[in-house]
Amino acid sequence: MCIFCDILKNQKYVVYENDLVFAILDEYPVSKGHILIITKRHAKDYFDLTKPEKEAVDEAIIWLKNTFDRMYHPDGYNIGVNNGEVSGQTVMHAHVHLIPRYKGDVDDPKGGVRGVIPEKQAY
Ligand code: AMP
Ligand code: ZN
Repeated sequence: MCIFCDILKNQKYVVYENDLVFAILDEYPVSKGHILIITKRHAKDYFDLTKPEKEAVDEAIIWLKNTFDRMYHPDGYNIGVNNGEVSGQTVMHAHVHLIPRYKGDVDDPKGGVRGVIPEKQAY
């Protein structure tokens, strides 16, 4: 059983949807508003997505960003996708993390997503 397919089937926690994707708040958020944009089709990872699915992801990202700007007033965002176990993917159903960022949420944010290899984040 796939946890994201199950969530879609039960319509539990779904906070946004369009024809091809839906979004849920991350159960273990790294910041206020950390959300996952997930394909309705059980795709493996980002590289498995069709062009319409990627467009639907983008539409969701823009809608959610505008909503969080109004709700939480973050100072920036990270957008991230883990593809494959070695990259850190734990749920093998394609999803994009949208992570609002707030001034002072870490001591030194420099390098951002470079932090996937922690000792290489700063440069
Ligand atoms: P990844 O490591 O990129 O595969 O991301 C999986 C994400 O799914 C993690 O950030 C988890 O916190 C999140 N997650 C796992 N199970 C659930 C769930 N039942 N509901 C919401 N988020 C979940
Ligand atoms: Zn699935």
